[in-house]
This record gives sequence, structure tokens and C-alpha cells, in this order.
Amino acid sequence: MTNGTTREALVRRLRDEMAAMPVLDTHEHFTPEPYHLTNRYNFYYWLMPYIQYDLVSVGMDPRHLWRPPADEAEVDARFREIRDLWPLVRNNSYARPFRMALKEFYGEDDLTEANYRELGRRMDETRYPGRYREILQERCGIRGILNQTGAFDYGDPFMRGSVGLVNRIVEPEIRKFLDARPDAGLDDLADDIRAHIDAAKAGGAILAKFDASSFLVPPDRKAAEAEFGEVRKGAPLRIGALSCWLYEQALAKVGEVGLVAAVHTGVWGDINYKKPELLFPVVERHRNVTFDIYHMGMPYTAACGFLGKNYPNAYLNLCWSHIVSERMTVHALDEWMDYVPMSKIFGFGGDFNTMPENIWAHLEIARENFAEVMADRILRGRLDLDEALRILRAWFFDNPVRVYGWKGVEPA
Ligand SMILES: [Zn+2]
Repeated sequence: MTNGTTREALVRRLRDEMAAMPVLDTHEHFTPEPYHLTNRYNFYYWLMPYIQYDLVSVGMDPRHLWRPPADEAEVDARFREIRDLWPLVRNNSYARPFRMALKEFYGEDDLTEANYRELGRRMDETRYPGRYREILQERCGIRGILNQTGAFDYGDPFMRGSVGLVNRIVEPEIRKFLDARPDAGLDDLADDIRAHIDAAKAGGAILAKFDASSFLVPPDRKAAEAEFGEVRKGAPLRIGALSCWLYEQALAKVGEVGLVAAVHTGVWGDINYKKPELLFPVVERHRNVTFDIYHMGMPYTAACGFLGKNYPNAYLNLCWSHIVSERMTVHALDEWMDYVPMSKIFGFGGDFNTMPENIWAHLEIARENFAEVMADRILRGRLDLDEALRILRAWFFDNPVRVYGWKGVEPA
């Protein structure tokens, strides 16, 4: 057997074994099935949430972000707008789950002039009760989803909820608070946020969502007071002294009630605000808080890895990373295996909002990436197949189940 066929056989074996492993999907924004059953679909739903940003990067009107066409005429207009842009982004990683799902579930190779209308009609045909279960549970082997759509609890043991502090410490919420309580001080505002966290915990949430920019500047009570005075007089709330001080209070409360602090890092917009480097003093200051750090800090993957290495309370979550960049994920993960303990990694989170077929495709890509990394390390003599499989099972399931303390998802 040549080395080439050895590697191919190893990759295939790893893929087969992974297909039988239970999965805890550690991060989605997935709309529960009642929405799916009543929504009216069209092709643009496949371009949300991620491909649309690449389309804006090459000229699509940014006002169309998160605005699927409302009728047939708009569907036609939207397709005409993106027709010449699509070839510029269809080979990027964001586009890959869509194209895989298109092939697997619709038998189509690409989005075209000839099939975009029909595609919407066929998507509508997937609106039957049990579609989610068929794909997510039965086909993907997903045992549970850590979901973030605003609900603390989904009334369904398959989905656990979160408290989105990134949607709470924002200007409209602070204005609402000040309108209701014009004489309230900074401590009253912090108390209001703490009460919201208590309600989330009591309501069934198991994590709280932050962003690296939540910790952009060190907490400074005096500077926060000054900014609060300005905001009260009508100044806009910017990321800075006030927001960061409030997030610091929220984080302490999250630790006190025992929620996991999930923190977005990397990728979006001005990535200087999203650097994993911002989190080192935060993780160090809050030793009693368990941190679930998202997206490998892309593109700052090495710094992100050292958060997991250096701190017992920091875990690294590969949610979304596999489809931001396959190769960056593979290269970074191979490096991480040099220095990050194996108990620190959560392997998969789809980070999608609709169409369970997207999650299936994303999970396939995750398995492909892991097979690449493990096959090469096995061939380099760094570990054997059995140990690689034990580690993969920990990444897909055991690690997040243990860290989140999620009882009842263990496979029979
Ligand atoms: Zn997300």
C-alpha cells in the first residue's frame, strides 16, 4: 500500500467512525419548528446568514441584509441583483454548506437562472412536522442544541436556551430603562441587568452570550458614570467605558449564578474589536467563570489557542469556524493539538438560523476537517487511531456535555 492510499483509507475510516458518534451542537440561532412550518421560503434564505455578507463585499445592496424577498417580483429582482455576483463568492467557504445541501437534498449543482424559483417551492415542501428531527437527530446524530434565539427555554429537552447579554447592553434597552426610571443611577441599571440574568437562570438558560468587544477597555467605574451621564442627556451609547463596565458587572453575576459565559471572537467587521487577546485579563480576573470562547478568534487562531492552554476556566469552541475557512480551521487545529489540552475543545456548532440541511452540511465539513487533521497526525506517528477516535468523541460530545453539565443527553 502506498502512503497515498494509507491516508485515504485512514480518512475514510475516521469519517465513518465520526458519522456514528453522538454530537452536541454547541451553538445555533435556530428558529424552532413552528416557525419553519409557517414560513414562506425562497432561494435567498440559503444566502442568509453568511453568504449575504460576502455578496455585500462584492456589491450587493447592504439594505438587503436579513431582508428576504417578500413576493415573487422581489424574488426575481433579488436574483437579478446577485446573478453576476454569485460566481465571485460561490467558491468561498461560506457558500459551501449551501452548495452541499443543494446537491444532497435537491440534486442541483448550483443556484441558477433556471432553478431559483423552483428551489423556493421545493423548500416550502420541507415544511412538515418532523423535518427537523429527521435531519438533525436521525441523520446528523445531534443529541442536543445550545440555542440562541432569545428564549431561555424551548419547552423541548433537545434545545437549551441562553441569555443574550449582547442584545441587552445596547442603546435601545438602556433608553427603555431610562424612560421607565428617569431618576435611576448606574447601580440601578446594573441591578436591572443582574435581575435579567437571575430571570434567565430561573427560566432555564444555561449560558450567557458576550462578545470580545464587551471587554474592549478595562472596567472603570468613574469613566462609566461620566458616560452614563452623557447617554442620559441623549449621547449615543458606544462600545467603551459604560458598556464595558456593565458587561463586567454582568460577567460577575453570570459566574455567581453558574451560567457559562460564551464569548464571540473574530471574523466580523473591524476585527480589532473582536481579538481574543482582549480576553486574557478577563479570563484571569474571573477565575470562577467558565468561558466558552467561540470561532477560534479567526484570524487570530494562535492567540485564541493560548487562552485554552493557559487558563483552567477557558474552553475553545469551533462553532462556525469550519465554514468561515476550512483550511484555517485545519491548520489552526493541527497547531492547537501541539499545545491545547484535548479536554478544552468543543468540536461543532452550526451557527445557522434556518434550514436544517445547512447544519447537516456544516457537520459534514467539520468531520472532513477533523479527518484531515487526525489522519496526518496518525501518519506522523503522533497518536494512533484509537486515541484519535477517543479525542474526536470528546470534541463532538463529551467535553461540551461535561462543561455545560447537560444531563440526559447521553446516548443509550
Ligand atoms: Zn452565533
